Amino acid sequence: MEYDVIIIGSGPGGYTGAIRCAQLGLKTAIIEKYPTLGGTCLNVGCIPSKALLDSSEHYYNAAHTFAQHGIKLNDLQVDMPQMVLRKQEVVDQTTKGIAFLMKKNKIDTYYGMGSFVDAHTVKIAKTEGGEETIKGKNIVIATGSKPMSFPSMPIDKKRIITSTEALTLEQVPKHMIVIGAGVIGAELGSVFSRLGGKVSFIEFADSMIPTMDKTMGKELQKAIKKLGADFYFKHKVTKVENKGDEVEVSIDTPDGKQITLTGDYCLVSVGRRPYTDGLNLEAAGLQADSRGKIEVDNNLRTSVPHIYALGDVIRGAMLAHKAEEEGTFIAETIVGQKPHIHYRLIPNVVYTWPEVAAVGYTEEEVKSEGIPYKIGSFPFKALGRARASMDIDGLVKVLAHKETDEILGVHIIGPRAADMIAEAVVAMEFRASAEDISRMSHAHPTYTEAFKEACLAATDNRAINM
Ligand code: FAD
Repeated sequence: MEYDVIIIGSGPGGYTGAIRCAQLGLKTAIIEKYPTLGGTCLNVGCIPSKALLDSSEHYYNAAHTFAQHGIKLNDLQVDMPQMVLRKQEVVDQTTKGIAFLMKKNKIDTYYGMGSFVDAHTVKIAKTEGGEETIKGKNIVIATGSKPMSFPSMPIDKKRIITSTEALTLEQVPKHMIVIGAGVIGAELGSVFSRLGGKVSFIEFADSMIPTMDKTMGKELQKAIKKLGADFYFKHKVTKVENKGDEVEVSIDTPDGKQITLTGDYCLVSVGRRPYTDGLNLEAAGLQADSRGKIEVDNNLRTSVPHIYALGDVIRGAMLAHKAEEEGTFIAETIVGQKPHIHYRLIPNVVYTWPEVAAVGYTEEEVKSEGIPYKIGSFPFKALGRARASMDIDGLVKVLAHKETDEILGVHIIGPRAADMIAEAVVAMEFRASAEDISRMSHAHPTYTEAFKEACLAATDNRAINM
């Protein structure tokens, strides 16, 4: 078989790219080594984690805030197997939806491991057995990433686990030790904290979500602490050992001492590595760099011009929506269009509660780049909508250029921050000033008023409700 485009990997980058290729009239094939489409995001990432986050949030509210709302419940219990079953139903519906979209767009789907035979030929070791070889004028590597670990933290998938196993635990851990308080650790740690488990975060950096604006990390820590979690910042894990029903984690403290924590699970969430295992890149004249990433130019072309790469396997944020933009970008580039991705405006979200969402420069970045800036911030506790729903934790922080008032970055920790950040992305894409947003009507009462108020504060320190 000969195709205009062969895409290896069916994650958000791969399947979005495939659909855009088909829309543009390109004969397209997609190859997936797992039995279901959708990649990390749909199967063991974004979607299942959000399903558990939502379930655990319902439980937490039922246990801790319903009474204040005047709703009494007796005999509240966590039914973990049911929670995991519902999560799986959500995943199954979603992945089946992708298979439907492939058919609808007449994209040929091959299930099996794809590997290069040469720069135009891909061999598929089919899941059902046997091999098939297909040819492509263009090939897209969309093979994503896998959880990372260190030799001192040997993953056994039983007691020492990654996010993938954490999504299928059939009981609430009594004590989960989370190594790494980045996005995935924070999200999954908060799930088990809300369900009543003890959670200890061990983080080498000095705050949670350390790559985001520092204010966000501080505020998130306050919120997660209220759930009863412990934090060990600037601590370094030296050894993790499975001791049967327990796991022991040895840690170096900042003042040079050694401590040991014992729990029933240790979640290793220290990042993800680009995945190219078994692809036989060399046969196509390619190789991954020392960190496993495939190098691409500004058009997402590898050093072999008709072979492209996207998503987690290349540079940049490991985010589903970044991969999706790149899938569309490659399809449009192949047909000769001139698409554009504004990488600075790809939002970053943490789905804890309160949620954290950000776009643009952090305060640390504007400082280090010497950009003159001003800050406007507004706390959710001053907002009627937030008081009505009892979601008063958090704030909106707007960074604007000191002279031009252009919005440079927006950082939100609060209710529905993940959805609210879209307004900031649009504003920044159109290069709005803080005053532009301040002069636009925001429905009352909504959480979005906090963004308007923070913009008023940034414009001229003239927030209304504070
Ligand atoms: P992937 O989704 O990793 O897909 C790659 C696919 O390629 C896989 O299905 C793999 O099986 C297949 N493959 C690999 N090699 C081959 C081969 N040789 N032949 C055939 N098939 C192959 N991002 C967000 O934006 N929002 C979130 O809320 C979010 N939550 C997350 C929660 C968790 C727990 C995790 C782990 C990740 C989360 N992410 C989230 C990150 C997101 O999942 C990834 O950024 C995204 O899936 C990357 O998309 P991709 O298309 O590059 O690759």
